[in-house]
Formats: sequence, structure tokens, C-alpha cells
Amino acid sequence: MMQLYRVSKSSRPVEKLKGVGPKLNEKLNELELTDSDTILFHLPSGYENLAVMNLNDAKHNDKVTVSGRVRTEPTISFFRRGKSRLTVFVEIDGLNIKVIFFNQPYLKDKLTVGETVNFTGKFDRNRLEINGQRMIFDPSGGYRVKYPLGGVMHSKTFSRIVAQVFEDAEFIYDLPEEYRRKYRLMSIKEALWHLHFPENPHDINEARRTIKFYELFIFQLQLMEKRRRERVRNEQYIIDYDINALKAFIATLPFELTGDQKRSVNEICRDLKQNISMHRLLQGDVGSGKTIVAGLASYAVKTIGEQTALMVPTEVLANQHYQSFLEIFAGELNIEKLTGNTSRKEKDRILIELARGGIDLIIGTHALIEDDVVFKSLSLIITDEQHRFGVNQRRRLNDKALRKNVLYMTATPIPRTLSITTFGDMDISVIRQMPKGRKPVQTYWRRFEETDEVLQQLSEEIKKGHSAYIVAPLIEESETLDLKNVQEIHELFKNRFGEKDVELVHGRMKPDEKAEGMARFESGEKPILVSTTVIEVGINVPSATFMVIFNAERFGLSTLHQLRGRVGRSDKQSYCVLISDPKTENAKLRMDIMTSTTDGFELSERDLDMRGPGDYFGVRQSGLPQFKVADLAEDYRVLEHARQSAIEYAEKLSS
Ligand code: ADP
Ligand code: MG
Repeated sequence: MMQLYRVSKSSRPVEKLKGVGPKLNEKLNELELTDSDTILFHLPSGYENLAVMNLNDAKHNDKVTVSGRVRTEPTISFFRRGKSRLTVFVEIDGLNIKVIFFNQPYLKDKLTVGETVNFTGKFDRNRLEINGQRMIFDPSGGYRVKYPLGGVMHSKTFSRIVAQVFEDAEFIYDLPEEYRRKYRLMSIKEALWHLHFPENPHDINEARRTIKFYELFIFQLQLMEKRRRERVRNEQYIIDYDINALKAFIATLPFELTGDQKRSVNEICRDLKQNISMHRLLQGDVGSGKTIVAGLASYAVKTIGEQTALMVPTEVLANQHYQSFLEIFAGELNIEKLTGNTSRKEKDRILIELARGGIDLIIGTHALIEDDVVFKSLSLIITDEQHRFGVNQRRRLNDKALRKNVLYMTATPIPRTLSITTFGDMDISVIRQMPKGRKPVQTYWRRFEETDEVLQQLSEEIKKGHSAYIVAPLIEESETLDLKNVQEIHELFKNRFGEKDVELVHGRMKPDEKAEGMARFESGEKPILVSTTVIEVGINVPSATFMVIFNAERFGLSTLHQLRGRVGRSDKQSYCVLISDPKTENAKLRMDIMTSTTDGFELSERDLDMRGPGDYFGVRQSGLPQFKVADLAEDYRVLEHARQSAIEYAEKLSS
């Protein structure tokens, strides 16, 4: 098995290297460079390009390496204590440059009028002077390598040690030949050599690409190995559910499952039936029908008399899930809800029932992880938007399980390449198809001056008895004059539609006020809700068919998409209008993308292309390895290739 950063036959302790005495050995140990493989992978932190450049591209005070024709005889002035200054005029890239070398009088013999010279120095653009540092006699230039050595030793010394390692080391581990050929990669030895002893930028780049691939390939193999180990095989994980009962129940559903739903149910049920613990992520956009899939899994577990817990991050979501599950599973599953708001009496009853096995499915918030919550036979744990829980919270729930089968749900579409690293050790089921008959939200982009027409259309919707969300970016006074803040917009709508129809909710309100405002909107008493993005999470008002987002350019694609997900929740046609006067190309592009697709996965992929994956990482990246060359946030294309290769490779090994 290949290991990361292990490439030679038997990596030798540094003290065994030729030319490394006790002193150097101590320094290397201080840098935690203790054996030859570690030294090979202690890569330069930078290269100083000694190759010749065009002086016209240089900025004031740049360090430059140039080539030019000597125009004048050099003159030398000597000072006290042997100091000297040599001055010569050289024509460099069409510029007549005065070049000065301090304390190198012997260079006089090397400077012959009419001949070409190469040298490095500091460029004074204002005076057209170069303070010369070194003459270069090998005109191919080259690189000076800089190592991160914390001042403990010189890069040159370290280079010498690296050269010694190359002489001794027997490279025996390498990327499989076929992937090297397919992706035109160097051998590891070549790549490391080019990074330590670079000759030109092309080789450096190709060498970096090779090492990136190598790191990500091994990383992927390790992930697969970890997954294999984590998914313990044990008879106790077999949930021999009643497949006929499950099928019979599915037949009674008022609709047919989509292909993606069926596939997801199959994948989950296969996990249950196997003698391994489930560790699966169920991804699907809002409204794609994850609830029913999760519910069917819980139904399967119930057929052998065991229990499911569904943990969600907020009270609002708990209520919503509870309602949706009741709609589909009432009479089939005993479902209860437990949150921080559950009364003491109610809680006591639920706790007793849970411990007795009288509840099949419990839906709740963090309240579920408390010590007094005890299950008779918890065999399926579902968490919604799991990234909002800490590892410890999830573990505390997992610890209550009889059989640890875990299903994570998320409505945040994550591009495939990113789920590889963020959820690398999980199996993934994706629901991409929307249920049949769903009408995609029609999305338009309008200028602010066209607001009136938009309001015209909105009032038609209200007349039909539908509701509308109006989203504004801020609650303070506008930062800039043309930014419409939520208060201003509230005024606009009150004037236009009358106070009795318009509700205002924003993040600065007290929770009670907010809840009351929301309730008036949800009940239909107030059909128009003006708000900030507080509505992003967990609101379900099926009668809402219209959304207006002011200053839409202020929001990222994923936020716009989450917002838009609040409408289109019934069989009626819904609309989303982006009001925006974008100032940048990027903002325009976002408006165009929003109006061209409602597919969250496509959006997330476009988003990734546009701005790079930086924003997807950060929080979630913690726990991922620190590579020497590869950068998970940038090298997702290499990652994808490395991943495919690793999967293929592992399959070949095991067959
Ligand atoms: P999610 O949890 O993924 O946001 P839901 O499970 O709440 O989505 O589903 C949204 C709505 O679509 C629910 O009212 C649900 O009953 C309905 N639904 C789910 N699957 C289908 C289907 N295959 N055909 C028709 N309607 C469906
Ligand atoms: Mg199982």
C-alpha cells in the first residue's frame, strides 16, 4: 500500500546521510526533518527567477535579471578601505541604463564594449539605473531555490543535503503507470527533482501538477480505506426489514416516487439490510422529496419494531418536519416531537414511550441528545443539515443507538467534487429530479425603474388569494443611495397595497414580534411579507407564489437560490423577480444564471466555476489534511481526476 510522502525503499535517518555530521543532524531534527523521505518532501517555498526578463516590464525597485549590450568602457572609482564603484552604460531592451557594481572591480575585464552581458540587480526606474548585484555567466539563467528553514540553515546547505538524498534513495513507490500516462504526469522522482533543482517554469509546473495528483490520489485511497474500516461489518447491523410491507406502503402513496427517490430508497435499504453500519448523505434541493425518502427508511426500521430519531437544527424545522411526516405517515408510524418548548408533562410522557418502544419516529432538536432521552431500540439516526451540529452533539445521539445507522440530509446542493472532500468518507445519494407536475419557478430580472410593472403583476397574484415575499438586503439606512433598505421598501408597499395587507419582519426584531409577524403571514391574514433574509430558513407557505428580491446583486447564487425555494411549493405557477441594476460583470452573470436555471446543483456548479470553491470551504474544511502542494480549495479538477483514478485502482486491486 502506498503511503503519503513515503516513496523510497527504506527511508534513512538523516544522521546516516553522507555529509550530515552531528551539528547538521541536530538542526535537521529541530526542523523535524528526520529521514530522507521527509527531506525529499520538504519542498521549496519559492523560487527566485534568475532567467532574463524584459526590463520594460519591470517596476521601480524590482529585482531584475536582464541581458544587454555594453555601450561604454567601464570606469572604476576606488574609495577608502578597498571599496570601489564600477560604472558602465548598457543598452537593455532599448533603454540606455547606467549600471553600477559596488566592490566588484574585477568585473571590468568581463565587460567589453559591444558584447552581451547578463546580470541581476535592483532597478531604479526613475533614474534608469541598475544597482548591479551579480553577473550571470550561464545565460540560460535558472532559479535560486528558497526553502522554509526558519533561519536554522541556509537554503544552499539544504539543497546539498537534498542532492545527497537523491543519490542514495531508492525510489520504489510511484503513481501507477497507467495514470501517469493518461494524465501525462512525471514519475515522483522526476517531479521531486524538478521541484528541488528547477530549470524552467514549465518543468516546475508539471512537477507541481504531478505532486498534487500524487497527494490527492493517496488521500482518496486513504479515505476509501477509512470508510472501509469505519463501516464495521457485524451481524448486528443487519436490519432484516419487511420488504413486502414497505412495497405495499409505497403503493398507497398518492404519487409515484421519482426515479431519484426510488434509487435513494434502494441505496438506503441496501445499507440497512447489509451487515454494515450506514453512513450516508442524502442530498436534494428543497422540495425534491427527501422527507418521504427518509420516512420510508424509518418505515423499514419500524417493520422490525425498532426506532428512528430525526434531529433538526431549529424549532421551526422540527415543527415543519413533524407536520410533513404526519401528512404521509399518520396511522402507519407513531410519530412524536421533542424540542426545548415541549412541556414537562408532555416530555415525561414521550420519554416513557420512547424507552418503552411505543414511538417509532421521534422528531426533535438538540433536546434529543439530553441524557434523560433513552430509546428502547434506536436503529436509524437521521440528521437534517448536519453541518449545523457539532461533532459532539452528533456523537451523543449516536451513542444512544442500538445499531448505528446514520443518514444525513441536506438541502444545500454541493457540487460533486466538493462533496468528495467535505463528505469524503460517506456514501452519497442524490435527488436531482423534482417531483412530476412541479412547475419550475419562473424567474425574471428587472431594473429598479421597472418596479411598477412588477408590482402590477404582484397585485394580480394577491387578487387570486396568493401571498408574496418581498426581500430587501438591509435594515439600516442605505449604505449607498440606490440600495433599497427594508424600511424604505416597507413604506413603498404599505403605500401601494395598504397597511392591512403588508407585514414587516427583520432580524433586529424581538423573537416574539418576529414570530407574530410570521404567523400573520403564514395564516394569510397579511398576504405580503417584507423582510430581510431571515426567511431563508424553514418557512413553508404553500400559497406564496410571488417573490421580489430587491438589490438582488447583493446576494450570492446560493442565497438567491435558497430564497427562491420559498415559492413554488404548490401546484400553482410561481414567480421570482430579481430587481437589480448590477454594476459588475460578475453580478450580471449571476442574474443571468438565476434566470436560466432552477436546478440547485447546476447553480452550485456554476457558482463554483465563477468564484472558486473558497466559500464552500473554511468552516467545513477543518479536519482535512494539509497538503504540501495540492490545495483542496483550488485543485478540484486535479482532485476529480485523482479520485476517479483511485477508485478504479482500488477496484482493480480488490478484484
Ligand atoms: P424536501 O424535504 O426535499 O424539501 P419534501 O419531502 O418536503 O421535500 O417534498 C416536497 C413536497 O413534494 C411534499 O409535499 C411531498 O409530499 C411532495 N412529494 C414528494 N415526492 C413526490 C413525488 N414523487 N411526486 C409528487 N409529490 C411529491
Ligand atoms: Mg445495516
